[in-house]
Amino acid sequence: MIKTLYTAANAPEAHLIKGLLEQSGIEVSLSGESLTIGIGGLPIDAAQVEVRVNENQFEEAVKIIKEYEDKMLGDDEENAQWECKNCSKMNPASFGICWNCQNEK
Ligand SMILES: [Zn+2]
Repeated sequence: MIKTLYTAANAPEAHLIKGLLEQSGIEVSLSGESLTIGIGGLPIDAAQVEVRVNENQFEEAVKIIKEYEDKMLGDDEENAQWECKNCSKMNPASFGICWNCQNEK
């Protein structure tokens, strides 16, 4: 049984999360993947992409996603994150360019 774990805002984010999960041995499928066939395998940037995992790995995957989100949002003590003017994603203070679109701080 496949469950939807996370809805990424765009294909690059979905691929980033897929990579994180696969590092932990979790099998991942992306809902938008079939759309990329025929255009050289380039991710489609416009649509939201669902990150899906097997039910038996779902809980483990949720933990990894939580760690990912915590890292992206930072914790209260280091509340110096900045918002990208280009794509509105939050970046940790230590990032000089946006993790999502490489726009400068
Ligand atoms: Zn950005």
